[in-house]
Amino acid sequence: MPPLSIHSFPSAILHVDGDSFFASCEQALNPKLKDKPVVVGKERGIATAASYEAKSKGVKRGMRVSEIKKLCPNCIFLPANFETYGLFSQRMNNIVRRYTPEVEEYSIDECFANLSGLRRPLKMSYSKIAARIKKVLEIELGITFSLGLAPTKVIAKIASNWNKPSSLTVIPGKDIHLYLENLPLERIWGIGHQTSAYLKKLGVYTALEFASQSEKWINSNLTKPHQQIWQELQGISVLPVEHQTQRNYQSITRSRTFTPPSNDKDFILAKLSQNIEAACAKARRHQLAASQIFFYIKTQEFKYYGAQIKLKQATNFPGRILNLIEKYLPQLFSPHKLYRTTSITLSKLKSNNRTQMDLFGQAQQSIKLAKIYQGIDRLTSKYGKQTIFLSSSLNPHAVNKHSYQPLKQNVALSGKYMRKKLNLPFLGETR
Ligand SMILES: [Mg+2]
Repeated sequence: MPPLSIHSFPSAILHVDGDSFFASCEQALNPKLKDKPVVVGKERGIATAASYEAKSKGVKRGMRVSEIKKLCPNCIFLPANFETYGLFSQRMNNIVRRYTPEVEEYSIDECFANLSGLRRPLKMSYSKIAARIKKVLEIELGITFSLGLAPTKVIAKIASNWNKPSSLTVIPGKDIHLYLENLPLERIWGIGHQTSAYLKKLGVYTALEFASQSEKWINSNLTKPHQQIWQELQGISVLPVEHQTQRNYQSITRSRTFTPPSNDKDFILAKLSQNIEAACAKARRHQLAASQIFFYIKTQEFKYYGAQIKLKQATNFPGRILNLIEKYLPQLFSPHKLYRTTSITLSKLKSNNRTQMDLFGQAQQSIKLAKIYQGIDRLTSKYGKQTIFLSSSLNPHAVNKHSYQPLKQNVALSGKYMRKKLNLPFLGETR
């Protein structure tokens, strides 16, 4: 098979991914937990995250505590503390920003960084820069990371996932084909369950087979997002690292469509919770807080059930929003219907409350973990331990025979359009 690209690094994109992030944060904060099997998610009785020591005993995300105790009797169970993980996340992003301002905060434990053009000013190869970033992250945060370096975001994602945990995988353009050869389609970032099933019907089974299709074939069989993935797989960077801070958002929406449709309320709530976490993370990133939210669940028959809620105080923390949604969801949900999509919109966004930002600001600047402790204590005393939402984001049936797959995370419809379409009732917040 000839190489997909003759160049090594026409552009250099780094993907950084925290290993077993939540469990690792707990281990970094409490040395007694080091090298021990740790499971986060005690408050819901389901593993939200597991340390590598626990994973080596067969513990998986989504397992019930009772089940884990049988597998691993000496497992240590901890409640999730999202605010703490958020602080670690901010520290991670800020460390990467020391090397390049072009950092995209992709999720709580993942970011992309554009290293293109940094070889000369830093007098290092891209691999050396990536290795340096990894070392600094691990020393300063006390947890391990898996990094992927490649010419594009899609390949960088494949690279970081190649040899977890604590790895740096470098895939220059001319070697891409070697990594795609036996890679299942589902392992490509952006290729969901449905698209891979569709591609298989067309006779395309591996990432390399997909990447090797002609442009004509791709354009006649696939839509633009998948055409872009095809280009990225060939080492042509078309998905930019989205680092620019936009402060003029009208609203932030996150939706998830899953298959098969479900009538399981816990599962639906978990999907909503994931949306809330993602939307709040984006709001915090842009230093915005929402004073109104609306959410909906959509049935298989494309019927929408939703509610709009005014908040007494603007927020960008998932815990409070989830509490409200948990309260209103039973009024909208029917066990006799099958649902396929959940969505949350944060609206009436305004600049974040200064006190809150100062707390984060201080924690960000601190280099030592002791400082993070201070920040956490302050946050905890100020906001209380908001642990419920994190574990609630977990698919409660992750280990069941049904494998639910999110198909798309982004939004099809604008908030304004949806509100009109749904004609949602206004509900007041009661706390
Ligand atoms: Mg991770």
